[in-house]
Amino acid sequence: MIPVTEAVERLLAAVPAPPEVESVHLAMALHRVLAQDLHSTVTVPPRDNSAVDGYALRYQDLSADSSHLPVSQRVVAGSRPSPLAAGTAARIFTGASVPEGADTVVMQEDCVADEAGLVVSAPEAVSPGANIRRRGQDVEQGALVAAAGTRLSPRHIGLLGSVGLAQLPVFRRLRVAVLSTGDELVEPGEPSHDGQIYNSNRYLLCGLLSQAGFEPVDLGRVEDRLDATHAALTRAAEAADLVLTTGGVSVGEEDHVRAAVALSGTLDLWRVAIKPGKPFAFGDVNGTPFMGLPGNPSAVLVTFMIMVLPWLKAAQGMAPPWSLRETRMRAGFTVERPGRRQEYLRVQVEADAGGECLRRHPNQSSGMLSSACWAHGLAVVPAGVTVAEGDWLTFLRFDE
Ligand code: AMP
Ligand code: MG
Repeated sequence: MIPVTEAVERLLAAVPAPPEVESVHLAMALHRVLAQDLHSTVTVPPRDNSAVDGYALRYQDLSADSSHLPVSQRVVAGSRPSPLAAGTAARIFTGASVPEGADTVVMQEDCVADEAGLVVSAPEAVSPGANIRRRGQDVEQGALVAAAGTRLSPRHIGLLGSVGLAQLPVFRRLRVAVLSTGDELVEPGEPSHDGQIYNSNRYLLCGLLSQAGFEPVDLGRVEDRLDATHAALTRAAEAADLVLTTGGVSVGEEDHVRAAVALSGTLDLWRVAIKPGKPFAFGDVNGTPFMGLPGNPSAVLVTFMIMVLPWLKAAQGMAPPWSLRETRMRAGFTVERPGRRQEYLRVQVEADAGGECLRRHPNQSSGMLSSACWAHGLAVVPAGVTVAEGDWLTFLRFDE
């Protein structure tokens, strides 16, 4: 059996060059991967501006004379103030440019203004330079605002908007063909007969792909026959950057995926030390990368998260790290017998006396998804170890 880390390394060693670059508008760029470093052509904020509604003045005028300061101009956000006349104050609003010559803004709550001018209630409490947001405090002209390989979050998109960029160079989204094998499968919405099961992998995988920012190419179900499987794989390879199948990769007589791939490409069958999982096929169909996942839905979920996703992120041009973010959590359960494979347990995070610990679902069958829905994530139990309550484990949160 191949250890999980080695299987992931082998997959990453076979990542092709990223796809073509296309230009998309900011409004369409969520979760896309930047193809180039982006530098700012502007300075943000462009000028010193007021952080509050109040009065802009020279600090020295304030300390010299605490009587009335005439109000010489009114500056609203977006307007261009004239230089501040000595011995006067400017009425100013949040975000408005501070007039040249003014160096301090006093909040309106700390002032009284009438026809005679402005009186600051407690001038000794005002510090020089107060309430001014400095030019360039956010982004300097020429600064790197987002690096190539960044997967754009709403925060990145907001920042790129703030420097005035409208069109962004991104990699075309990878297309991933999804094929479900199995004569026992019927589609949701259809009547099912004895022994048949509903196709869940198809929807699970398409959802996982969309959530991660890839484009699923849903090719439905394929019968357990060599010619049908071969025809479906050939179509899938033409339509996508990666072909994913579920089921049919074991060594049973009804498992035709391996033979069908071998007809028009290369194939390695790995026995990965992963639970749930284990049989994992990797190769190509007419030059298009191919991965054959197990049939059991929770094995599909785990092998997708641990093995397929890092490959996809790297192939999409994303910067590393490509594996899921790991946190450390304490076990609220025991594992008495060491396993031969690295196990990914469906767990919930639960409050306990020491803070939080992980609670394991009592049923970890690879065939069931209800425990995966109950769970907040996966706890990793390496091969050959036992776990006592309170031991620290690696935890992978589903929503990350
Ligand atoms: P296989 O590797 O083809 O023998 O499949 C292993 C197990 O996964 C069998 O119990 C299948 O019925 C089940 N299975 C395979 N494909 C799907 C699917 N698309 N949806 C739900 N269960 C599946
Ligand atoms: Mg099957």
